[in-house]
Amino acid sequence: GTKLRLDKMLSHLGYGSRSEIRKYAKEGRIAVNGRKAKDSGETVDPAKDEVVFDGAVVRYREFIYLMLHKPAGVVSATEDNRDRTVVDLLSPEQAAFEPFPVGRLDKDTEGLLLLTNDGQLAHRLLSPKKHVPKTYYADVAGVVKSEDGEAFARGVTLDDGYVTLPAKLVVLESGPTSRIELTITEGKFHQVKRMFEAVGKKVVYLKRLSMGSLSLDPELPLGAVRELTDEELENLR
Ligand code: URA
Repeated sequence: GTKLRLDKMLSHLGYGSRSEIRKYAKEGRIAVNGRKAKDSGETVDPAKDEVVFDGAVVRYREFIYLMLHKPAGVVSATEDNRDRTVVDLLSPEQAAFEPFPVGRLDKDTEGLLLLTNDGQLAHRLLSPKKHVPKTYYADVAGVVKSEDGEAFARGVTLDDGYVTLPAKLVVLESGPTSRIELTITEGKFHQVKRMFEAVGKKVVYLKRLSMGSLSLDPELPLGAVRELTDEELENLR
């Protein structure tokens, strides 16, 4: 497994700041594998080493669930030779859990991206059989009309011949550039952009607002990340 500094591990788990952890170690309140750890900088393998704080075993959790407000310009991958990835936006402590993005957003798409190392949850959310709804906000070049909503509700034929499942369009503002929300229950490559191409219009800005029960926290700044709340996680499961 991955080795982690003791102070990082304990501060990550909420036992205190790194400097507080250093003090606790000096005070002899931390033990690793039955021996007092005086140096909070020593490294442990949370999967193998037993860490005890004030006599109680520290349970290192296995999974992490992160909500990222993805900015444009980063790719939804864990590694990339050319571009910055969403993992580059995480703290080293968060990255230590080796989370991966649940589904993909295009490089130029903003908005909600869930990152986790919980493969089962990711699988359930991405399974084509589950039809997990995803809602997007978009600015669209062209006058989006109710006819487009009717076409999306029926299904439109993409450039590769694929006919989309029924989707729900809400036109917030119709004009030379229209403002819309679109909910789809599948995730074909560039799906939202290609659906608008199918009705002769171009998406010029795209942002994901929600995935299943999980909505982008309006307080979360662009590029920022936070852990899901217990309630968000419960609802998603
Ligand atoms: N549809 C798209 O076209 N792009 C995305 O990033 C997500 C959905």
